[in-house]
Amino acid sequence: MLTAKVILRDSVRATDKLFTYLVPDKLKEKIKEGLYVLVPFGRGNRMKTAVIYSLQEEDKSEVKLKEIFDIMDDIPVLTEEQLGLIKPLSSRLLCTMGDVIALMVPSVVGKASMPQATFISLQSDEDAREAIASGTLRSITHIHILEYLLEKGEVEKKALLAACKATEAQLKAVRDKGFLYMEKREDTEAEIPSAIPDTELDEAFNVVHTLNDEQQNAVDRITSADKASVFLLHGITGSGKTEVYLKCAGDVMEKGGKVIYLVPEISLTPQTVNWIRARFGDTAAVMHSRLSDKQRFYEWEKIRRGQAKIVVGPRSCIFAPVTDLKLIIIDEEHDSSYKSESFPRFNAKDIALMRAKLNSCAVVLGSATPAVSSYYAAKKNVYELITMKKRGNPDAVLPKVHIVNMKDQIKEGAGDLLSLPLRRAMAKAIADKKQVLLFLNRRGYSRTLICEDCGEPCSCPNCSVGMTLHNGIRIKGKDQTGRILICHYCGYTVPARDAVCKGCGGGNFIRAGIGTQQLEEMLGNLFPGSKVLRMDQDTTMHPGDHERILESFRNHEAQILIGTQMIAKGHDFPDVTVVGIIGADLIASSSDYRSSERAFQLITQAAGRAGRKGSEGDVYLQSLHPDNPLLIYAAKQNYEAFYEEEIRYREAMALPPFKASGEILLSLPNEDDLMAKTDILSIYLKDFLKVQPEKYAFELYGPVPSPIYELRGRYRMSFMIKAVNKSCLNAVFEQLMKDFDPNIYPISFDNDCGG
Ligand code: ADP
Ligand code: ZN
Repeated sequence: MLTAKVILRDSVRATDKLFTYLVPDKLKEKIKEGLYVLVPFGRGNRMKTAVIYSLQEEDKSEVKLKEIFDIMDDIPVLTEEQLGLIKPLSSRLLCTMGDVIALMVPSVVGKASMPQATFISLQSDEDAREAIASGTLRSITHIHILEYLLEKGEVEKKALLAACKATEAQLKAVRDKGFLYMEKREDTEAEIPSAIPDTELDEAFNVVHTLNDEQQNAVDRITSADKASVFLLHGITGSGKTEVYLKCAGDVMEKGGKVIYLVPEISLTPQTVNWIRARFGDTAAVMHSRLSDKQRFYEWEKIRRGQAKIVVGPRSCIFAPVTDLKLIIIDEEHDSSYKSESFPRFNAKDIALMRAKLNSCAVVLGSATPAVSSYYAAKKNVYELITMKKRGNPDAVLPKVHIVNMKDQIKEGAGDLLSLPLRRAMAKAIADKKQVLLFLNRRGYSRTLICEDCGEPCSCPNCSVGMTLHNGIRIKGKDQTGRILICHYCGYTVPARDAVCKGCGGGNFIRAGIGTQQLEEMLGNLFPGSKVLRMDQDTTMHPGDHERILESFRNHEAQILIGTQMIAKGHDFPDVTVVGIIGADLIASSSDYRSSERAFQLITQAAGRAGRKGSEGDVYLQSLHPDNPLLIYAAKQNYEAFYEEEIRYREAMALPPFKASGEILLSLPNEDDLMAKTDILSIYLKDFLKVQPEKYAFELYGPVPSPIYELRGRYRMSFMIKAVNKSCLNAVFEQLMKDFDPNIYPISFDNDCGG
């Protein structure tokens, strides 16, 4: 008898296994691996959605098997490759197999359906002929309908009405006479509506550049890869990486291969979509957050049916059901959006590498400021490094970067927001009808203290990462009220009034805390005739806000755009000649050990927004600490120098990529409960790690309040674990999952803090 092993789509830990069902005779013809089916489950035989994992002929089994109830859809929702990835991914991401299916299959699948149409044919040709011949039909339209169907056989309703110039009512009259057979079903002929708008394309999008020698070299190397290989494409901002991606993609597609092209969600603007559309037209499926459920379903359907040769989208697209996958492109590979913020916390880069191995395909990781871990892999020849040092557009010049000493500016009475040189440059740009971009980092900003005397941010004496200000804290033995500084890396705490500056030994700190809004007000006073746009979390709450602001700035409806990291990424504003980066050193002082890396990336990206088209650009890096090497390297776009310094620090501190670093987070609605359970967990972890072999080099830090201590009505405490590799971390997590009931201890894990 034919049996099927299935995985439940909504499996929880207890039901996360393969269940065997009998395939009833009526389904034998259609059943396939990867299909969505309905199965009766549990004592109540409730219908559940499941995926066919495997099919096998078995001898009669002793236990009576339940039968699969029905097939939900004739085409598999998962490809063979995806089925093969379910088990490895569930153990890698510490989630159920059902969770993996949920990552691979958008939730609309199974709910939405393809366009439907009504098809009409004759009940009997004989009867129709007879009716026409006998003259019993009075209406000429009725006769036309029958004649047309006699000639064509089956016709789709709309086509029939159009051909016979008939109305719905007339058609209904013919049907009521008993001549017609009507059937509503999926219209396989119908063009799948595209999520890409079909408005007239601007000529500019059709431009295809002739590659320069650096670009050509990159394309040659990537397209001649004949096994699974990973390329790190390190090209300065404006070096024309996009043209390289598009050329490689085109080449692969010409040879019959398919492509996945990942971009950070934030840069999937209508602009980018237009580029894709100009190059690849209908062969592209584009996934972005502005799609309706229906559009999302159609795009996915286009991929599943093999009509899409290239899939463009954010991190979730790495799971797209693409067959013949020959190239994966990850643009801005350093971007933190490739790592999922929510459970299961997958990293699209890891998944890309797994799929590349399975498909023997090439991966291109592109960036002007690669993740330190990626560059390290390239240096170790795990990745192949390709470097591009020239700007793609030969007319573009690198912007001049000026580091402004804000301590002097404060003395001169300019305040700590906008320096005099920046103001002068802005005034000139505005007079010349050019545009200005002001970049401000606000994340965790007002929770940083800086030394009034030397400008150094207050940092942990053990870890040299910035400390964060909290109001009161409750850790066993450390209960404190008032303003406390906490190192979120090692858990070191100190009352704010006792903090000592590492730079000068002083004890006078001020709170760094300007927001985009205050800046906006100040600009109103300084440049009363100019319009200012602001892009931050407050002004981009609704879908579409983002594009509206960018579009409006691009159309010169404002002269100045201020914003947070959102505006630093990938946008091309041809008329921006002045970029101001405000509080540049504070970017580097957040509580994460990767903050230097992030700061370097942000400053380089922000600076790269200036002078992209012919005209010169000036970038003002405002800093209380102008001799900080990080700023000097960023100003010169000297990634290598930054990297060398950073990697030495990481090695000395045994941070990734030298050791794996993971987080265990416990979150509960009740604070007392959280503290009690944190203590128990703390003792457990210490005891458990104490008996582990020394070669795994476990280190435990914490518990510490999570940087965002209160989130959606829950309080959060975390532990940091370091070990020689990720498998060691996973082993700890797995043990925890066995020993602690997740309903009582809601614990989440992340084995990739800083991969
Ligand atoms: P990156 O992604 O590396 O920062 P882009 O791909 O955005 O750079 O390219 C920067 C600019 O250079 C774009 O306006 C692009 O049209 C232009 N460009 C790219 N390649 C060439 C080329 N070979 N010749 C002329 N202009 C080019
Ligand atoms: Zn510390």
